[in-house]
Amino acid sequence: MNVEKEFEIKVLLPGFSRLNGNVMEANCTCTLIKGPQNIIIDTRTAWDGAAIVESLNNVGLSPNDINYVICTHGHSDHVGCNYLFTKAIHIVGFSISKGETYMLSPDFSNEEEYVINQNIKVIPTPGHTLQDVSVIFKDKNNLVYAIVGDLFENENDLLNELIWINAGSDNIELQRHNRLKIMDIADYIIPGHGAMFPVNK
Ligand SMILES: [Zn+2]
Repeated sequence: MNVEKEFEIKVLLPGFSRLNGNVMEANCTCTLIKGPQNIIIDTRTAWDGAAIVESLNNVGLSPNDINYVICTHGHSDHVGCNYLFTKAIHIVGFSISKGETYMLSPDFSNEEEYVINQNIKVIPTPGHTLQDVSVIFKDKNNLVYAIVGDLFENENDLLNELIWINAGSDNIELQRHNRLKIMDIADYIIPGHGAMFPVNK
């Protein structure tokens, strides 16, 4: 039996964003890859600690069971509860650390990838910010899931690119390029602020 095949993916807390008068209400999608190594992707705002712990408990995990925290980028709605995971390696955008130790490789700015195992890797996908990363996960049926943060705001931004552009883009051309790259490799996309959707090939 191949342990690499035992991983499963689950959205712990779904993301959203909506205009309400002159403010934006938003929180990000928080995703778990559960298996021999446990990986949490995007830890919401600093006000979400109890909700994250509860959602982990519901699948039989506690924060100390998490081996990797991956934040697709450094905005406050994606990194707020990283502090819960002191046993984990933290990958926040292009920065890889544990405690006060920072890893100098792989170098995401040089298009290098962080390989967690043969079915899970972290790749650079800048555009929304200049240091965005995405997690690429292949499940036991060889379906490829891309957890992309705000590279995609939600499914509707496929038809109306003003949605992702207006959500903030530090480099529109680069973001457009990396969106196409993800659509090429993924069967399912988990966007930063909406529900998972399939990629029509
Ligand atoms: Zn966001």
